[in-house]
Amino acid sequence: MRHQEIYQQVTEYFKQRDVFRYVRYNTEVISVKKASDYDDAGRWVVTVKDRITNELTTDVYDGVLVCTGHMNRPMMPTYPGQEQFKGKILHSHSLKGVSPYQGKNVIIVGMGCSGLDAAVEISNVAKQVYLSTRTGAHILSRLGDRGLPYDHLLFRRYLYLFIDILPINAASWILETCYLDLLFDKRLYAVKPKHGILSQDPSLNDHIGSKLMSGSVIMKPNIKCFTEDGVIFEGDSEVTQADSVIMATGYTWKFPFLEEGIVEQENGRINLYKCMYPPELPHGTLAIVGFILPLGPGFPTGEIQCRWAVQVLAGKCKLPSKAKMYADIKKRYETNMKRYKPSDKMSIRVDYVPYCNDIASQFGAKPNLLKLLFTDLPLFTKLLFGPSLPYQFRLQGPHAWEGAREAIMTSEYRMLWPLTKGRVGEIRDNIFKVLFQKTFKFLGIL
Ligand SMILES: Cc1cc2nc3c(=O)[nH]c(=O)nc-3n(C[C@H](O)[C@H](O)[C@H](O)COP(=O)(O)OP(=O)(O)OC[C@H]3O[C@@H](n4cnc5c(N)ncnc54)[C@H](O)[C@@H]3O)c2cc1C
Repeated sequence: MRHQEIYQQVTEYFKQRDVFRYVRYNTEVISVKKASDYDDAGRWVVTVKDRITNELTTDVYDGVLVCTGHMNRPMMPTYPGQEQFKGKILHSHSLKGVSPYQGKNVIIVGMGCSGLDAAVEISNVAKQVYLSTRTGAHILSRLGDRGLPYDHLLFRRYLYLFIDILPINAASWILETCYLDLLFDKRLYAVKPKHGILSQDPSLNDHIGSKLMSGSVIMKPNIKCFTEDGVIFEGDSEVTQADSVIMATGYTWKFPFLEEGIVEQENGRINLYKCMYPPELPHGTLAIVGFILPLGPGFPTGEIQCRWAVQVLAGKCKLPSKAKMYADIKKRYETNMKRYKPSDKMSIRVDYVPYCNDIASQFGAKPNLLKLLFTDLPLFTKLLFGPSLPYQFRLQGPHAWEGAREAIMTSEYRMLWPLTKGRVGEIRDNIFKVLFQKTFKFLGIL
């Protein structure tokens, strides 16, 4: 979906549910502190600033959900000699279009989603784009087998079960060998990372292969130092001329408005129960929502967190004891330490399906697969083997939706309908064609 369509969908939803009247625009939260009756009532004093009049207002609230995201504080690396560079250095966060780069030499640092997007887009107009990476990347195309969306193909419950059962390196190897490398072999473009696909976020891009092939984007190692008119990359002796250097180097995190000590980082570990609740707080009246790095989509993960937080706020769910929360945080952190490439956001990495299941089970919205196996086999099969859709968490529990089953059973048809201009039936191959394709694939002929 294009961003305008996501925007349209969200605004339409807001209009339908009359949410806009609760939104206060141009209002910045300056501080969130415990109220004087916090120990008894768990309330919060929130001070906000009107960004137009600069007026400060303070009110007391029963609950606070912090949803400020974790991609708004650019992380800028520094390099020797950077101050003498006469060109422009910016973060990808400030990149709003490609026209300033017409006919220019541009270096992009970082090979995550933003770095790849920037390299591909800018290379359409630039004289030359260089893409600098320390670690390489697993590149995942948005289109998988038969041109179907990768998330539709990969985010399935039974595939996450493999990740749970197999050692992580074995699961990574299988996924890379049997799926990723067939689409884009990283070795071919010398961008193979040290960490497996399940230990380092894959970077999504459909066009980088052809850009590297044509030479409009050239891979480079880490920057050793800057000069007046460019950079010297590690292993190079010559200066690579550059007009601009774009740091697509990710984001750091901070909750500057929260009372000190509420969200703590202890020896690299961010102490949040289920990536949401500060364990030191005796009441569940403050939750951090969306501060998470799922191997999967962000929107449904944020939604399920909101649903749980609302149940906790309403007093319908209880949080466990402080000791249990710390034990859970420690367990996730230690598991992640063994699995992921080191990063300051290690503690908030989760696998999409198991995490959503875990949160849904906190408030009774996790589908009962065992029961469905005996009562509704077609639905059970879709839930286990089909794409993992957020409707599954509306089958039962609070705010269940009677259309959820139908939405799950027909999701593929609805996805294909606009693509095929309503001729979904025509893309189904007959059994002989499928067998023929599989036989040729098995024999390695094509
Ligand atoms: C280039 C890019 C591409 C992405 N693509 C995808 C994608 O395809 N799929 C996906 O799931 N995710 C994607 N993401 C991640 C995406 O950012 C999140 O999924 C989503 O935006 C998270 O929503 P959020 O509401 O948690 O945070 P945000 O969208 O970051 O919203 C946080 C809001 O809080 C406001 N805020 C911050 N501080 C204060 C304060 N003190 N007072 C008041 N307001 C404040 C900010 O202004 C902002 O409006 C992408 C991110 C980037 C940068």
